[in-house]
Amino acid sequence: MEKMQFKAESKRLMDLMINSIYTHQEIFLREIISNASDAMDKLAYLSLTDNAVGLNRGDFAVTITRDENARTITVSDNGIGMSRAEMEENLGTICKSGSLRFKQEMDKQEDIDIIGQFGVGFYSAFMVASSVTVISRRYGEDTAWKWVSDGADGYTIEACEKAAPGTDIIMTLKADTEDEDYSRFLDEYEIRNLVRKYSDYIRYPIRMEVSKSRKKEDSDEYEYYTDWETLNSMVPIWQRNKKDVSDLEYEAFYCDKFMDYQKPLRTIHVSAEGTVSFKALLYIPAKAPYDFYSKDYKGGLQLYSAGVMIMENCADLLPEHFRFVRGVVDSQDLSLNISREMLQHNRQLTIIARQIEKKIKAELKKLMADDAENYEKFFTAFGRQLKYSAVAEYGAHKDAVADLLLFWSHKEKKLISLKAYVEAMAEGQEKIYYATGENKDRLSRLPQVETLHKKGYDVLLCTEDVDEFIPQTLMSYSEKGFCNAASEDLGLQTEEEKKELEDKAESLKGMLTFVKETLGESVKEVRLSANLGSHPVCMTPEAGMSFEMEKYMKKANPEFAFPVGRILELNPEHDAVKAMQDAMTADPLKAKDYAKLLCCQAQLMADLPIEDPVAYTDLVCKLMK
Ligand code: ADP
Repeated sequence: MEKMQFKAESKRLMDLMINSIYTHQEIFLREIISNASDAMDKLAYLSLTDNAVGLNRGDFAVTITRDENARTITVSDNGIGMSRAEMEENLGTICKSGSLRFKQEMDKQEDIDIIGQFGVGFYSAFMVASSVTVISRRYGEDTAWKWVSDGADGYTIEACEKAAPGTDIIMTLKADTEDEDYSRFLDEYEIRNLVRKYSDYIRYPIRMEVSKSRKKEDSDEYEYYTDWETLNSMVPIWQRNKKDVSDLEYEAFYCDKFMDYQKPLRTIHVSAEGTVSFKALLYIPAKAPYDFYSKDYKGGLQLYSAGVMIMENCADLLPEHFRFVRGVVDSQDLSLNISREMLQHNRQLTIIARQIEKKIKAELKKLMADDAENYEKFFTAFGRQLKYSAVAEYGAHKDAVADLLLFWSHKEKKLISLKAYVEAMAEGQEKIYYATGENKDRLSRLPQVETLHKKGYDVLLCTEDVDEFIPQTLMSYSEKGFCNAASEDLGLQTEEEKKELEDKAESLKGMLTFVKETLGESVKEVRLSANLGSHPVCMTPEAGMSFEMEKYMKKANPEFAFPVGRILELNPEHDAVKAMQDAMTADPLKAKDYAKLLCCQAQLMADLPIEDPVAYTDLVCKLMK
């Protein structure tokens, strides 16, 4: 028979499995049982609409059998089974969900120990077995197939007999060594403990023939016999009482079910009675999955109805802004034979979704209030999702997420919420100030930010593309409007001060006109500013626009990009500006050079490119001579 090779990436994983000496070998049983349970879920679901399946929910079971002489442990299920093609596809390559993700983590971390915490799937059998045989018959097919592999050098597949649909996984245990005791996996007590520890919640019975003893009738002697026993309690964790579930159990369930090796940041266990009764177990992960911000990521919750899984990723149960939440929902109240399409318009589902959204929001607010450090961790992972949700659909969901956003505070030097900003606002401060740009350090040195800081006003420093759109979408928070520190009238001057500046502008009209004429079309306007503190100049965008927007459009949508008008603001009290003014009569050519120089400086400070860097340097050198 021809021996087929594993795909290259599978081989590497296989080598790791076979050779790694590690302490979590025992999880292989959980992985194999979990696959069996999935396969039975699939057939149970099919049986809802297909009478030909001929099985009721109660007919599904996993059986574990042991053969001490042959050193085999066999896990059998009467689930959906695999066709020949499926065997090749599923067992010949690791480009399958769990294993692939595992491999990607391995490539990043090179940390062997994470194997134990990760859902590594079928391949984990090779941690304890020197050879694995899979006999499977797909529901609806007559032929069964036998897949055999001893790990390292490929596998074979041949036709075989099997009476009913389902799968047997036969693992021949490795020989014991000085350090490793593989024989323990033949031991009844060991297996029972492992099932209780890792697979207790599996919703199908996991049965094994165990030895028992009883007293003989009319005698003091005991006799021994064997009997089938169900090892697991079968109560899914979400159906149990909150107080009876330990943190460890919640975490283990999460890691196993959602293939994460990091424990979740928060667990939310909901038991709701009312118009619609349901149980939900929701998790907030600590880290975004590698594909979270891509189209490949499938959001949504797993939906069960009366113990049957209806849908793997029910997106309608979760609003888009909380799509990072993982979990399961179980409700008896959903009619069982509804098709997946119809589910989408199910009224009960909408009610459940609304309650779930409320619970998640409350939990996140609690996390924010009680545990700033972990909230920050959460926000680092998923803040971008919240921000995008705030601006999506013209702000339709802004109220749902505004409270949950964090921004970098210039004053506090840490991330703060809008609520915290507003509560800490200085006496007389009317607006929420923010600045947008590429990096915090540069933003904090903007002249306008310095001016605000001197007044005791905090400024939110925003460095992500999406930040630019948040103030415009939210418009206000807690009745305070937003004000871009770099682009608008900062609202800092009193009426008298404004009048004073106007008078000054009138008296310096000649200088302002001179600068405008010198610079021509490269600036839209030249005016005086009172916001400059110790700086000579700054560049602000025309009303209602921002330079970040211009940059963003250039990148995202070049065909719609347009230049934002530049307004050069001069500080009439600054020596450099005064020097230019003096030169206007003494040496007009030099004054023109000064004007050009000041304009370039303003461009640089606003993080805008200067049109002709060579001309700029030449100019500086000329003036230095
Ligand atoms: P994962 O479960 O993460 O997809 P596995 O390596 O554990 O990865 O399994 C690969 C695939 O093999 C499964 O997705 C499933 O399609 C198939 N499979 C494994 N065990 C069984 C089984 N007992 N019955 C039917 N199909 C199975």
